[in-house]
Amino acid sequence: MSVAGSLSTKAIPADASICLDRPMSKFARVLLDQSTGRPLDYAIPETLRLRVTEGSRVRVPLRSRVVLATVVSVHEETDARGVREIAELVGDDALVRPVLMRLAAWMADYYCCPEEIAMRAVLPVVIRKAELAHKERLFIELVRTPAENERSEIERRAPRQIDILRNLEAVGAPIELAEIPGARTAAKALEKRGIVRIGLRRVARDPEGEYMPSHDLPLNAEQAVALAAVRDAIDRPGETRPLLLHGVTGSGKTEVYLQGLRHALEAGKSAIVLVPEISLTPQTVERFKSRFADIQSQVAVLHSHLSEGERHDEWHKIHSGGARIVIGARSAIFAPLENLGLIIVDEEHEGSYKQDEAPRYNARDVAVYRAALERCAVVLGSATPSLESYHNATTGKYRLLEMPSRIDDRGMPLIRVVDLRLQNRQRGQQQVVSAMLRVAIERRLAIGQQTILFLNRRGYSSALMCQACGYVAQCPNCSVALTYHRDDERIRCHLCGHAERTPRACPTCKDPAIRHAGFGTQKVEEAVRKIFPQARVARMDADSMARKGSYRETLDQFQARKIDILIGTQMIAKGLHFPNVTLVGIVNADVGLHMADFRAGERTFQLLTQVAGRAGRGEAEGEVLVQTFTPAHPAIQHARHHDFAGYWEQESEFRRAFGHPPFQRFVLATVRGEHAERTEFTAQTLARRLREAAAEGIQIGEPSPAPLARVKNEHRYHLTLRGPGALKISRLLRTVLAKLTLPRDVRIGVDVDALHLL
Ligand code: ADP
Ligand code: ZN
Repeated sequence: MSVAGSLSTKAIPADASICLDRPMSKFARVLLDQSTGRPLDYAIPETLRLRVTEGSRVRVPLRSRVVLATVVSVHEETDARGVREIAELVGDDALVRPVLMRLAAWMADYYCCPEEIAMRAVLPVVIRKAELAHKERLFIELVRTPAENERSEIERRAPRQIDILRNLEAVGAPIELAEIPGARTAAKALEKRGIVRIGLRRVARDPEGEYMPSHDLPLNAEQAVALAAVRDAIDRPGETRPLLLHGVTGSGKTEVYLQGLRHALEAGKSAIVLVPEISLTPQTVERFKSRFADIQSQVAVLHSHLSEGERHDEWHKIHSGGARIVIGARSAIFAPLENLGLIIVDEEHEGSYKQDEAPRYNARDVAVYRAALERCAVVLGSATPSLESYHNATTGKYRLLEMPSRIDDRGMPLIRVVDLRLQNRQRGQQQVVSAMLRVAIERRLAIGQQTILFLNRRGYSSALMCQACGYVAQCPNCSVALTYHRDDERIRCHLCGHAERTPRACPTCKDPAIRHAGFGTQKVEEAVRKIFPQARVARMDADSMARKGSYRETLDQFQARKIDILIGTQMIAKGLHFPNVTLVGIVNADVGLHMADFRAGERTFQLLTQVAGRAGRGEAEGEVLVQTFTPAHPAIQHARHHDFAGYWEQESEFRRAFGHPPFQRFVLATVRGEHAERTEFTAQTLARRLREAAAEGIQIGEPSPAPLARVKNEHRYHLTLRGPGALKISRLLRTVLAKLTLPRDVRIGVDVDALHLL
């Protein structure tokens, strides 16, 4: 979000490196890992005076214990009395780089959270737990597959051993022994049989030769312009604005990233590439690894499924300069690289860049801030930029780079809209697969081409929609869908608190069929199997992909054309490249479109555009069918015409008129507690105090029950704050919260630039 708006370049020191001839400081201000409050001062023992510095990890005495802490600054003197001595220095002198310390301090301020919570993001838990530091780690690896008779003998006599064996076979790679609790004896027995080997190090299964080296492609004119801007930003550190690369799906953004990365490396610098967790697919990783096959060992990939030990090793490899390119999801923005030259944030609009627990940072915005601190280039790329970033480009905070055509001028896929209201009228009941979609799938099956059926994740959505005319109940103040609350038969706005009685029939067409529509992937799978019994169908969602490795298996099968129809959620919308897919069906575009959220339209537009980008990536032309009850909705219509500019114009007019982001900043406070009245009362008190203290321009909404009003026996109330600047709102909240005494069972969470309003 317009982090750059709150970012004054003046505040950033020209030289962020540590001064080597600093005077020897006697005191250190530290932040305890488990602290509840402000930093504490400790004396630095004489022997450590040359080493303890900003970013050092230390053990310090606290009452009768010794606890871990991070040094935030060092001083000549202190006002504190009864200062005790630091007990021990842990790891390198400055384990946390000064820039990252500053980044954490900024996050605490901006996202209104305690500094030690912000530090948690910067320093991964495996590094914070010092005891893991240099422990030796044992791996167990399969050497040979036992013959049938030997296997059945083990099965009869040693169930623990057969468990380990199956585990190894399923994973297909060495496993850290510590990950299989109590396995040591059984593992030793297997080793004696010569079936496994136990060793200190994982034997590399990722040998240099596995990736076919790929070479830079000659760029087209649009790509060349974009790359020139990226190179320029790398070459003139601190002098250029963040770049927003808006390129349609298939315009070759990735090629621009790859050549930009090469330029950074050639300039002797390092780089971070952020991709959304769901696009961290083998396909994506391979594209990067193969281009840098010459320096493969210097490319670190931070997957979420790394073991603790692997995470620890990767971090230290990066910290010690062993890696120069880091690819990863959200948290990779904190990779402890030195001499950063370039940060790339692919699919910058993606909601998964926002962490949904404290610190509730958005990695894209942290990227922009870190780039300013490091004075390095930053590129935000997307086919469907967020309104926030696009707004920053129109105001000049970011520099906009456009790539409006696909490589080789391949056409954009044809998007057709299927009006479900008509379908229902004809059939008298709700259809999962409309006649039009059915015919389209049949045609693909007949000529051996593949189909993807996409279903929006069954998010929490209980908007009221008329199945006959498509009417959706909306808030008169905020123009977002109202949410149905069963307990009191009311529909509510979760932005401003507006509430009204639930209508019994549609106010527009008088039809009583006004209700909430939607179905899950499983139901779609059943329907598809019934209609096309001869087709090979697979489903891909969080449920069916729970087993390790099944995601890749399914993708490989689909790639090998052993699956005709792939059904899935968001998981299949991003970053995949299947030339033989010529049809994409969106089963129900309304799920996600009518939500108590001003970004519902934006998300739908992005999703339709991204999903459509999956079709026709090969020689054959692609077609997209969108099923919906509200075919005239602007998000659907603009996506259908591949018209980002038109969409942007219309959507920003709506946001401006109702005071939604990016024209106002939006902060969400959630008050949670076991006791309904106490929780509501606290929310009311908080609202009152905020109103008393608020500066002009900050608006505070009415507290109202959250869309998820009760979670795990807790009552939840929302309070929204809006204003021209996020930092101002954060600081207001911090001041008011500091003076507020909460009932013991009530807690308040703050989400700055909130993306989800549940
Ligand atoms: P995007 O990331 O914008 O969706 P990709 O980078 O995936 O687009 O590019 C789409 C396809 O075009 C890929 O197969 C890529 O290899 C190919 N491609 C990209 N740039 C070029 C180029 N300059 N010449 C030929 N093919 C290219
Ligand atoms: Zn409202």
